[in-house]
Amino acid sequence: MAVFDLVDFDNHEQVVYCSDSSTGLKAIIAVHSTALGPAAGGCRFWDYASDEAALKDVLRLSKGMTYKNAMAGLKLGGGKGVIIGDPKTLKSEALFQAFGRAVDNLNGRYYTAEDVNINTDDMAIVNQTTEFVSGLEGKSGNPAPFTALGTFLGVKAAVKFKLGKDDLTGIKVAVQGLGSVGYALCERLHAAGAELIVTDINQAALDKAATELNAKVVGLDEIYSQDVDVFSPCALGAAINDDTIAQLKASIVAGCANNQLAESRHDQVLLDKGILYAPDYVINAGGIINVALEIYGEAYCAESSTKLVENIYNTLTNVFETAAAQNKPTGLIADEMAREIIANAGK
Ligand code: NAD
Repeated sequence: MAVFDLVDFDNHEQVVYCSDSSTGLKAIIAVHSTALGPAAGGCRFWDYASDEAALKDVLRLSKGMTYKNAMAGLKLGGGKGVIIGDPKTLKSEALFQAFGRAVDNLNGRYYTAEDVNINTDDMAIVNQTTEFVSGLEGKSGNPAPFTALGTFLGVKAAVKFKLGKDDLTGIKVAVQGLGSVGYALCERLHAAGAELIVTDINQAALDKAATELNAKVVGLDEIYSQDVDVFSPCALGAAINDDTIAQLKASIVAGCANNQLAESRHDQVLLDKGILYAPDYVINAGGIINVALEIYGEAYCAESSTKLVENIYNTLTNVFETAAAQNKPTGLIADEMAREIIANAGK
């Protein structure tokens, strides 16, 4: 496989293939950049259609982590791990220990964490063979409340910039996905006086939001066309695509989901339609900000983490202002800012 010629290859510092025949481990770890500090990013367990698909994913995700950590103001680079195979049949203690040894071989250039199909219990096993694990139980803990705080402040920054309003009273928000982050975001929005319209595949979460937060519940396909100020994708990736943009009545897209744009050009499509987009990796950085202190080797302190997360408001405002001044899409501007931070660190 010609790694250097792939579209997703972006001068990654290191791409490591790891295998262990006794446990069935097949993994790829990509260290995109350590210009700002050790590369940090979770590890996902996925039954990829091919090794090429896994490589493409890890290259793309690790670069995303470099940009995310740079824009969050962290002294961390970007990396990611992928374990290839069906987690239902392949997961074992020995496999995670083998993955830990692979991480350990990088001598702290990469810190791993949980991601899709890998939970904190799995990471505790990885931690048996390497110290380079973040976000373990008993340390910074569940990142979701911090991601929700950052997303809430991001919604506030977008509302201030686009609608000129300092508070959220009467602002209508359509939230797609009431999981760990989405529900906590809804609680904050409700407490701030916003009106909620929600959807999810989980009926219990919908019932709870209707009862506790006075949310109006709509069908999965109806969420895009609601007459609201903000559309907040908090479920899966690619919620913003040609089909859904055509339906949007909201003037703001601001939510916690990763990879919200189906294709990078949708950033420009949103701008052309007069919709302000809060770049996903900037608005949803609360979780990684919360684990950063742990990676720095400092004692975990929720107050310090909260202060750093609160800065997402200013970072996004800066992105919005710069993008407006240059009449460029916000995602493009965030990428340019991230690259500048990394280049300056190199100097
Ligand atoms: P979660 O699994 O707890 O919640 C996802 C929710 O989306 C669930 O309630 C699920 O039922 C719902 N859902 C699934 N398919 C749906 C559909 N088609 N339509 C509507 N709802 C649907 O996940 P989470 O931790 O809350 O994360 C949500 C998003 O935010 C993900 O994209 C995740 O990658 C991203 N994110 C999370 C964190 C974090 O700290 N947890 C940090 C950064 C980014």
